[in-house]
Amino acid sequence: MDFKWSPEDEAFRHELRSWLDANLSRDQKGDEGLGMMHEEGGEWQKRLAWHRKMHAGGWVGISWPKEYGGRGATLVQQIIYNEEIARANPPALVNGLGTLLVGPTLIHWGTEEQKQRYVPKILSGEEIWCQGYSEPGSGSDVASLQTRAVEEGDYFIVNGQKVWTSDAHHADMCILLVRTDPSAPKHKGISYILVDMHSPGVTVRPLVQITGDANFNEVFFEDVKVPKKNLIGEKNQGWQVAITTLMFERSGIGGGRDMLGAVKELKDLAKTVRQNGSTAWANTDVRQKISQFACEAAAIKYTGFRQITRRLKGLPPGPEGSVLKLAVSELNLKMNKFAMEILGPYSQMDFRAPFALDKGKWSYRMLASRALTIAGGTSEIQHNIIGERVMGLPKG
Ligand SMILES: Cc1cc2nc3c(=O)[nH]c(=O)nc-3n(C[C@H](O)[C@H](O)[C@H](O)COP(=O)(O)OP(=O)(O)OC[C@H]3O[C@@H](n4cnc5c(N)ncnc54)[C@H](O)[C@@H]3O)c2cc1C
Repeated sequence: MDFKWSPEDEAFRHELRSWLDANLSRDQKGDEGLGMMHEEGGEWQKRLAWHRKMHAGGWVGISWPKEYGGRGATLVQQIIYNEEIARANPPALVNGLGTLLVGPTLIHWGTEEQKQRYVPKILSGEEIWCQGYSEPGSGSDVASLQTRAVEEGDYFIVNGQKVWTSDAHHADMCILLVRTDPSAPKHKGISYILVDMHSPGVTVRPLVQITGDANFNEVFFEDVKVPKKNLIGEKNQGWQVAITTLMFERSGIGGGRDMLGAVKELKDLAKTVRQNGSTAWANTDVRQKISQFACEAAAIKYTGFRQITRRLKGLPPGPEGSVLKLAVSELNLKMNKFAMEILGPYSQMDFRAPFALDKGKWSYRMLASRALTIAGGTSEIQHNIIGERVMGLPKG
């Protein structure tokens, strides 16, 4: 990969930076890097308003094809976009699951009619999406899922339960994995369907996380009618589609984060906190630790670039996305834990508590960072995938 940006790329950067400077006011600035997890105090509405503004400006789905409402920018420009967004720190967009997972999967697997119907509304935020994979008895081994869909005329009739379904309480649509052939081996009897969350028989119950936010849910399906035209790919072949979505999820979780920016924030914290008559930064051990984080963050950045090569060839992300997902979520956890050490007694103060250093964002991030090591497949599962599918080791 050539790391020098072309004149077109520089022009793209300039255009985006100017647009952000003109449209992002000081009080709209981001939520201390809390991203999509934080919902309290009108945070969702603030993000939705910002999403609409970005979409109207043509800045959502920038590398998606123009015919489905994207900007048609190159993947290199997507990297520049990520850098500029990290620099400007606007509120996180809404519809993360729609843009990260559903749109790219539909562009790869959907019929022309399905793409035209769904993709533009994902970008505009008119339809919010959720992902119905996990069930109470099927998480890491998602192919063991039990939610059933039975054919009846032009419809599937769905019965079952999903859990940990992020954004289901905001969602209009769901990508749902259902068992359509219970007699087939577990990976062979699954179908991938799109369900209208406003259908009769869908019940959403929020679950509160350790952060105090409730942004995932239990979802119950009771005789829910789903038109057969909402099937993606072939009946009973949904596992292949499901894997494509997971690849986009893992590479997206890993690729979209500015870990070097987070290291800089940690360094700024160490320079602020007073320890033994000086700053934490004056302590060699602290500086060494933060330098180690910086090395890992740089390695993540360049691994992300390497992954782009595959996408430039028009292929969906491969199992190497698991490397990024694992590295980012584990580094994120280590850094937030270290922030707690630096903060000492201040680490006990809640997000936005009076007198909390850095508005208490580190304690929130610390609690939230566990989630990233679980969502999209746990760290143990990523280790298994890397061992078997990247390194070619025998199955454990
Ligand atoms: C914040 C958050 C958001 C989420 N959002 C969604 C969502 O929108 N949609 C959705 O469908 N799901 C979602 N999930 C669920 C997530 O995908 C599952 O939690 C995850 O896949 C693990 O499944 P589980 O919780 O059932 O744990 P289990 O699979 O029961 O795992 C329990 C433990 O056993 C370990 N383990 C299991 N199998 C193996 C193995 N073969 N080898 C080694 N160790 C193993 C795991 O690593 C883990 O430590 C979300 C989870 C979180 C935390």
